[in-house]
Amino acid sequence: KKYVYFFGNGKAEGKGDMKDLLGGKGAGLAEMTNLGIPVPPGFTITTEACIEYYKNNKQYPEGMWEQALEALKRLEEAVGKKFGDPSNPLLVSVRSGARVSMPGMMDTILNLGLNDETVKGLAEISNNERFAYDSYRRFIQMFCDVVLGIEHNKFERVLDKVKENNGAKFDTDLGAEDLKEVVELYKELVEEELGRSFPQDTMEQLRLAINAVFESWNNQRAITYRKINKIPDDWGTAVNIVAMVFGNMGNDSGTGVAFTRNPSTGEKEFFGEFLINAQGEDVVAGIRTPEPIAKLKEHMPEVFKQLEEVYKKLEKHYKDMQDIEFTVEKGKLYLLQTRSGKRTARAAVKIAYDMYKEGLIDKKTAVLRVQPEQVDQLLHPMIDPNEKYEVLAKGLPASPGAAVGKVVFTAEDAEQWAERGEDVILVRNETSPEDIGGMNAAKGILTVTGGMTSHAAVVARGMGKTCVAGCGTIRIDEENKQFEVDGKIVKEGDFITINGSTGEVILGKVKLIMPELSGEFAEILKWADEFRKLGVRTNADTPKDSEIARGFGAEGIGLCRTEHMFFEGNRIDAVREMILSDTKEDRRKALEKIKPYQKEDFIGIFKAMDGLPVTIRLLDPPLHEFLPHTDEDIEKISKASGISTEALKKKVEELKEFNPMLGHRGCRLGLTYPEVYEMQVYAIMEAACECKKEGIDVKPEIMIPLVGHYKELAILKEMVDNVAKEVMEQYGVEVEYLVGTMIELPRAALTADEIAQYAEFFSFGTNDLTQTTLGLSRDDSGKFLPYYVEKGIYKEDPFVSIDQSGVGQLVEMGVKKGRNTRPDLKTGICGEHGGDPESIYFCHKIGLNYVSCSPYRVPVARLAAAHAAL
Ligand code: ADP
Ligand code: MG
Ligand code: MG
Repeated sequence: KKYVYFFGNGKAEGKGDMKDLLGGKGAGLAEMTNLGIPVPPGFTITTEACIEYYKNNKQYPEGMWEQALEALKRLEEAVGKKFGDPSNPLLVSVRSGARVSMPGMMDTILNLGLNDETVKGLAEISNNERFAYDSYRRFIQMFCDVVLGIEHNKFERVLDKVKENNGAKFDTDLGAEDLKEVVELYKELVEEELGRSFPQDTMEQLRLAINAVFESWNNQRAITYRKINKIPDDWGTAVNIVAMVFGNMGNDSGTGVAFTRNPSTGEKEFFGEFLINAQGEDVVAGIRTPEPIAKLKEHMPEVFKQLEEVYKKLEKHYKDMQDIEFTVEKGKLYLLQTRSGKRTARAAVKIAYDMYKEGLIDKKTAVLRVQPEQVDQLLHPMIDPNEKYEVLAKGLPASPGAAVGKVVFTAEDAEQWAERGEDVILVRNETSPEDIGGMNAAKGILTVTGGMTSHAAVVARGMGKTCVAGCGTIRIDEENKQFEVDGKIVKEGDFITINGSTGEVILGKVKLIMPELSGEFAEILKWADEFRKLGVRTNADTPKDSEIARGFGAEGIGLCRTEHMFFEGNRIDAVREMILSDTKEDRRKALEKIKPYQKEDFIGIFKAMDGLPVTIRLLDPPLHEFLPHTDEDIEKISKASGISTEALKKKVEELKEFNPMLGHRGCRLGLTYPEVYEMQVYAIMEAACECKKEGIDVKPEIMIPLVGHYKELAILKEMVDNVAKEVMEQYGVEVEYLVGTMIELPRAALTADEIAQYAEFFSFGTNDLTQTTLGLSRDDSGKFLPYYVEKGIYKEDPFVSIDQSGVGQLVEMGVKKGRNTRPDLKTGICGEHGGDPESIYFCHKIGLNYVSCSPYRVPVARLAAAHAAL
């Protein structure tokens, strides 16, 4: 079996598309060699060898070492030097390289092949003793750090001492003799630390280095990185052994990194930096400040010209922005690496757009180049990337964007402060529906408990408001209006900055920038629309949200939660009056007060969504969410309704439930208090008829929540149809409307065929469906769910990304059974999952008609739906 691939003399055994086998770096080196780009020769040991190394109990697979020696011989011939030969030594670098770049996996070892003898040879042929010993001491240091496990800073201490003794400020101030001394001291250090001497046998050095690369695949850093980035554990890493070229041979030498376009803005400009007279690691280590790449033109015009040719060739060849590493040895340019460059969302959009316009890539590729997850950044204010700051605490990145404001602890304060023009951050243990006003008034929301789908998180995302949730290290002291974290006290009125994209909480004001929705982004989304099969709707409760969502390209409303309207202004008083009424009569009276508000809201939404479908869910949450909590509130209701405060208090007590999420809510309310749903349907249909008369194209879809049995729906559908008929007759217009249901209980999914007899559409409410299928309360799971995810029991938070094998199976079954009964059944999803790319791919796969997500996720969903279809 072939384990080793050689490259050199303008030809490589490997190719650019062999990333799986050769790793990204190895494939890039091979491809560049074949393109005639100057690359120092070398060879790559495959990822397969690494995998087998582990299978064989850390033994090389058969033939690997022999093939490596064979390749080493070819390498010696190509360079005209011999490995371990004191008179003319070949030095190599040993570099790891997995399929995808994994920063922090293993540090590269440079100058391997030096020992007490070869260093003299190097000094002689280079005619530069200082350079030779500088290379040797670097090598000992790197080799010990990476292979032998002696800490880097132990060597640094020795070096500092020598510098001190010689009055040297920088490494570069040390002469050849000083560096010889450093080498001796380093070797002593090794003896002390390991009880044996630094390996002088260059073959042994090579073997140990290869082993170290293989083993770095399973060091803690690498394992953690793989987990975070969802990289499989069984890919393994390749090892690249590359002839050394020296950027530290004087002022006609140097090293640098560059991008073929600006990775932060996407501008078409050569971007990067370099250092004269330095080896690779100096650029990263920040020992000296590198110069911008344009300056290279002044220092070395010939090299710069050549580098320009090379980068253009590479970009054209790979048809993507490249991130390259190069070294110049005595005026000669070598490329050491090329790969697709990492970029910001803004740059991704600009580069994809430009490259399509340049004819470099097709539309499909352009759409695929922009990652759905990433574009979220483009829709919210963010921290100016040039800002430096210290993080005070970290919570969950619950709703993206960044916000600056003064700390307040109650929703009322948030509203009051905001009214007088102050920016505030609302800090709560957790928010509740009552806090809506304050949340709306605040610039951002910070909570102590609660997870990614806690009330605060869901509502904030819906509003497009920055939110950091579950920041557990914070202790709120309500009484003294302050919070404490790590011994620091933050008082009401103090400024904080929160970053809902990272979960960071920062003391003080940090500068924010508002990324604009560029014309290029809008264009790419239009291209995405050409490819996608899934419809994209939005979850919106107000005319304003509807407009925003439409601006982002929403094709209708998938979920309008009527109860959110109940909290605006003084409406809540009438709602409470209704709930606390004892008789149907009194309830009707209170409902009559609410109806005009509802109607007005629906009219606004229908107008904003002219021509598009609007799914309106009838009242869903348990009534206790609307109950008054303070004596003051009860007093108010007592006055308005004429019921005594005692009676009211008793009623509040009665309405308390042990498990409200599984209690008296959803269609159960509609069945037991029919006048509530009736009022809502009147409001919807009257609004629809009035709009229709005005020439607005209304498409209401009335949705009954929490159905578990088809008979529930049968009864309520009859009611809806009766009311609709009555209203349409009264107005003398016909409105096309649909009646459908949420599928959010396992029983509903299991009996979807029966339910579809009465439902014209299904909307999968995957938030509740996840709760009820997993038996997991989303309000309480914050305490233990992270453990589940960490242990890999669930690959991801099932409230963020749909649990495909469990909940997903129910959705798929529901769709199938439903369509068996009613082939033209419209199906969609309206849980938080509707905005999650991974879940959107799943929805595409099982053939849903649309996904519905919060307004600010609409562009993400459009893009993800296109990616799913491509
Ligand atoms: P990383 O994966 O961390 O980028 P590399 O293997 O690319 O690590 O090595 C880091 C740097 O070391 C390179 O950018 C280059 O400057 C230097 N380097 C690696 N191999 C050689 C070599 N054969 N000759 C000169 N410099 C090298
Ligand atoms: Mg590199
Ligand atoms: Mg629900």
